[in-house]
Amino acid sequence: MHSQSALSIEFIIVGGAISGLASAVSLARVGHKVTVLDDSSDFYDTPMGAGARIPPNATKVLYRWGMEQALREVAIKSTGVLFAQFDNGSIVGTHEWEESVLEETGGDFLLLSYGDLRRILAEFAVKHGAVLRPNSQVISVQADTERPSVTLITGEVLTGDVIIGADGCHVPPYHTRRVVLEATEQEDIEKPTGLQLFNVLVPWSAVDKLNDPVAANVKGTGKLCTWFGRTYGALGFPVKEPGTGASLFTLFVYVERDDDDMTVVYAGKEHLVRWLQGCDPRLRTLAESAEKIICIPMIERPFLEEWIHPDGRLLCIGEAAHPIAAGSIYALSMSIGDAAVLGKLFSHLHRKEQIPIFLNAVQEIREPRVQSVLKASLGNIFAVSLPPGIAEQRDRELRERAEQEVWNLGRAGTQTTSEEMIMAIEGIFAYDPEDSADDWWQQWGITHERAQRLFFGGSFGLNVATEEED
Ligand SMILES: Cc1cc2nc3c(=O)[nH]c(=O)nc-3n(C[C@H](O)[C@H](O)[C@H](O)COP(=O)(O)OP(=O)(O)OC[C@H]3O[C@@H](n4cnc5c(N)ncnc54)[C@H](O)[C@@H]3O)c2cc1C
Repeated sequence: MHSQSALSIEFIIVGGAISGLASAVSLARVGHKVTVLDDSSDFYDTPMGAGARIPPNATKVLYRWGMEQALREVAIKSTGVLFAQFDNGSIVGTHEWEESVLEETGGDFLLLSYGDLRRILAEFAVKHGAVLRPNSQVISVQADTERPSVTLITGEVLTGDVIIGADGCHVPPYHTRRVVLEATEQEDIEKPTGLQLFNVLVPWSAVDKLNDPVAANVKGTGKLCTWFGRTYGALGFPVKEPGTGASLFTLFVYVERDDDDMTVVYAGKEHLVRWLQGCDPRLRTLAESAEKIICIPMIERPFLEEWIHPDGRLLCIGEAAHPIAAGSIYALSMSIGDAAVLGKLFSHLHRKEQIPIFLNAVQEIREPRVQSVLKASLGNIFAVSLPPGIAEQRDRELRERAEQEVWNLGRAGTQTTSEEMIMAIEGIFAYDPEDSADDWWQQWGITHERAQRLFFGGSFGLNVATEEED
């Protein structure tokens, strides 16, 4: 069962990647009219995408939205993590997610191609009635208390009741974040971290060529491999190629960077191999067989202090509101969480006066959540955010804690349930964003509606529950 909104309004979503498409699903499925604008040419094909990891706190939401079967067809279920030393590849520790632990979280750890994730979200958005418009670059946004609008590069103007800024902060034409930063007089400080991420796809034949028993085992078990070193790190996992289903290995390699260029580019193999001198020789062999390498400079950008434009109905979410380190498992899952809260709150809409209250509630619920997850994941290897030490590179104490945890794991064996593992499971993976939105509605939303009814004699809207059609 899910609730349909008593009042259907028009949403224009700027940006059709994970935040934008997940929001389109969450809003359209509760009865709102949604248009998604993206500057790319195709929602069903993402050439720059590589591998993606979705943790249980996000998969459970997608399953509830009816995507379980579609995801299972293209994803590999991850059963655990292997930790290896970056310089020589020797395995230091390994840990498996127990079935009972995953049951507690209500979801799965899935490994899949980013393009397939985006395609499935696009298909479900359309199925629920959203209109997806590719080749639609937004060049200006006019926030307004009643009818905000956007202007496309073609000169076309689109007007709606609410604009959702889901155009991120990485790809150059991103716009809504800049508009909100300017209107709220917040400085946009972009700090290069001195690291870069190489996002690499390797055909499985290269893994087979390693003739390595550990590598051979990775495909069947969906093991996430992490290599950790002082200023280097890597993550690798199996994925299926969109369209063909062929086996691929995806590698996220984090190495130092010696310039301040902030552009995301395709890179040549020689560029990556240069950085892999003196590391696990298997990593170098895999890099030499790479089919696609994307180089992403790691930049620190501030969270928006205000996610909502002061002139009215423009709300930023996802990377536009809270930039997260490139390649972190939380970039994707926090975006899906934002979308889930947005859809859940707007399922209670029955009069337009609620719109600004709900938009504010999204930030109220999500900002502390995103911050607390990022904080809790620092130094906790069970939070599987980035290779141990990479997110903590600026904090020696936290970096050493992460390293220590890996060594402890090696000593303790695979089935030990440590305090850190419990923290990761209970604090991060078992969390349900839709429950938080329900709690907010019970605590504040209904109270506000009752006050309105008492003081202004308005009607107290009830949701119409419909059968879940998925
Ligand atoms: C092309 C691409 C490939 C990616 N590949 C991976 C991957 O393989 N693995 C992974 O874990 N993460 C990947 N990510 C990152 C991931 O999507 C984000 O980290 C996060 O999950 C969600 O970000 P978001 O949707 O808020 O913003 P983003 O992912 O940054 O998406 C913003 C979207 O808005 C569009 N856009 C920007 N400006 C405008 C404009 N002015 N008008 C209209 N549209 C605009 C962009 O083209 C993009 O589609 C990729 C992101 C992109 C854009």
